[in-house]
Amino acid sequence: MQTITTVAELRRTLAKARSADKRVGFAPTMGYLHDGHLALVAASRAQCDVTVVSIFVNPTQFGPNEDLSTYPRDFLRDEKLCRDAGVAILFAPDAQEVYPTQFETFVDPGELAKPLCGAFRPGHFRGVATVVCKLFNMVQPDVVFFGQKDFQQCAVVRRMTNDLNLPIEIVTVPTVREPDGLAMSSRNRYLSEEERRRALAISRGLFAAADEFRSGERNVEKLVAIASRHLKTVDRLQYLELVDGDTLKTADSPLRRPAVLCVAAYVGSTRLIDNVILALPTP
Ligand code: AMP
Repeated sequence: MQTITTVAELRRTLAKARSADKRVGFAPTMGYLHDGHLALVAASRAQCDVTVVSIFVNPTQFGPNEDLSTYPRDFLRDEKLCRDAGVAILFAPDAQEVYPTQFETFVDPGELAKPLCGAFRPGHFRGVATVVCKLFNMVQPDVVFFGQKDFQQCAVVRRMTNDLNLPIEIVTVPTVREPDGLAMSSRNRYLSEEERRRALAISRGLFAAADEFRSGERNVEKLVAIASRHLKTVDRLQYLELVDGDTLKTADSPLRRPAVLCVAAYVGSTRLIDNVILALPTP
């Protein structure tokens, strides 16, 4: 595995792979890697010849009162995990490499960036779309792998890729969970033992609603109410919404199209997100 910190060296290295007609897979991350990230790597290795992982804690997607400065980091551990997972190139630029001093051009996503996390994290998806677009241009991958845990991020990135005619295939990888159901997240490390136990309410609520959906419940209010009962033990529920899988607008009741039940909640001072897809059985 090669660890690379500059765009110039990344380009030189990938040019060789491309001229050998290798299919390049890419998984962008903010590091502090866990099995969720490694599932993206595994999916890339299964479909591509060369797998690139980036680690970059992107300042433009954090709000002024968010956890940019305390975001967990352990580069040496991440590097070993990537090497052991069969990553070919680990791209770890610093902030100056990605955002030189004169930087002033952003990608401004539209309606998909407004609800859910977009409503509570102003500018977040503008920062995400901008850095993802830049990383796409730096790596020029054939396929990029994102996690379903960040469902709205996947939707925004897919739309950007279409709208800007980027010649890249986007693959969404299912959420990887701890054995008890908690969605893996770098931010889980902020949780105390007691908070970790209470955080389980999130996946339990989602699974309870998904069970009812599988049993035939199609009423949006009822499905949300089922999840909501479990979510009483979180410290602050930011949103719990059942949205249309394509538009991310509140789903019409009864459900007739694929929908996603999405949650953002604080446990202690840690903000966690999760979701389940409610896909209608094919007739
Ligand atoms: P992050 O480092 O949190 O920005 O995440 C980088 C990528 O890993 C994103 O595409 C995330 O959706 C994905 N990811 C994070 N957590 C998980 C998880 N538990 N399962 C699957 N993918 C994940």
